[in-house]
Amino acid sequence: MSTLTRARSAELFERACSLTPGGVHSNVRLASPPVFFERGSGAWLYDTDGHDYVDYLLGQGPNFLGHAPPSVTEAVAREMRRGSVFGAQHVLENQAGELLLDSLGWADKVRFGVTGTETDQAALRLARAATGRTKFVRCGGAYHGWLDNVLSTTVDGQSEPASAGQLPHHLQDSYVVPFNDAAALDTVLTEHDDIAAVIVEPVMCNTGVIPPVPGYLENVRRLCDQRGVVLIFDEVITGFRLALGGAAERFGVTPDLAVYGKAMAGGWPVAALAGKASLMDMLAGAVTHAGTFNSSIPACAAVIASLSLLREHPPYAGVEAHGSKLMESIEKLAARHGVPLRIQGLPAAFHVSFGDSEVIHDHTGLAKLDLAGYAEFAKTLANHGVWVAPRGVWYVSAAHGDDELRAATERIDAALASHAER
Ligand code: PMP
Repeated sequence: MSTLTRARSAELFERACSLTPGGVHSNVRLASPPVFFERGSGAWLYDTDGHDYVDYLLGQGPNFLGHAPPSVTEAVAREMRRGSVFGAQHVLENQAGELLLDSLGWADKVRFGVTGTETDQAALRLARAATGRTKFVRCGGAYHGWLDNVLSTTVDGQSEPASAGQLPHHLQDSYVVPFNDAAALDTVLTEHDDIAAVIVEPVMCNTGVIPPVPGYLENVRRLCDQRGVVLIFDEVITGFRLALGGAAERFGVTPDLAVYGKAMAGGWPVAALAGKASLMDMLAGAVTHAGTFNSSIPACAAVIASLSLLREHPPYAGVEAHGSKLMESIEKLAARHGVPLRIQGLPAAFHVSFGDSEVIHDHTGLAKLDLAGYAEFAKTLANHGVWVAPRGVWYVSAAHGDDELRAATERIDAALASHAER
């Protein structure tokens, strides 16, 4: 397959750059090649120059059911005829809430929001209100949104703002520990009595897709219990993706609060805060959580249709099988071409980079990987019809089948050949 050319995308990108900074509407997209897509269907994306791509970025994760999943698209289109938001309750909210809580199994109550970023903040505020304490613990390399108190790089264990204009003192509201290090968490919790919450991605998907080492999440749970600290799982990526009940189900550890998004609503912008009634009920007055677009009709319709599909036709075994075969193919092809690609993670979400194959357990391991080299390779993959995140995460959807695996394997083979020739 020859390298794709994209004259129409180039024109559109030039125009976009005069309309919006960097030609993109989210900084996360700055590192991707400037391809303009016409549409997505199942596991495929179609660009404005007539090329197709096997998509393993899935819109940064939300399209777990594939692009435009028919039952979700139809439900949203049908229900939208009722309207969008009323600034009041509507009939779909209870159904969406019941399905969500029943799917999770451990949570008593739910509040819908729109983005993971704001819903993480709601969880942190609730934890502060419940404990009367002010600070929280997070893991180096974790992503909990782009706001001032959570966006950071971690250098020598110290948090540094990751963005110009960020208020550095907001980062002082948290203590940072390495993921997978229960002893470090124990030390921080012992040394400080002002900690309201520990927030953790149960699988650190934004940093090398690092699974928890056996016993880690159990230890985090135990340490939080011992100190009366609220445990928040940020399941924005893992929720409804690793299992219907997310990472909590997959690893058998229950948080006090959890934040969901992405895979929950078939590509629609919905997030949710779920948790124990004793905490969640504080939102009935004392603790403010608001949002004009919370629990909109299209959002609830998307949640109901997506969760119904996930429950009636669980895609988890298929996603695992596709992901495992894909990981194996990538490894074999890279070895054949003599390209030092390394892979780690879970079949539903895994990380590819250049570097030796040593497994990394926390953010410090990232320094050993050639992430910039991989970001270049992601462009080569795009030029051969495979769409992936430049940061190295590959997401597998329920719509990825044998045809996609065959196409992806051929295209990855061609991209590796082109990379090896450089
Ligand atoms: N938490 C995690 C674990 C995430 O991966 C993300 C987004 N990638 C967020 C929070 C923020 O979600 P959103 O982009 O919807 O604000």
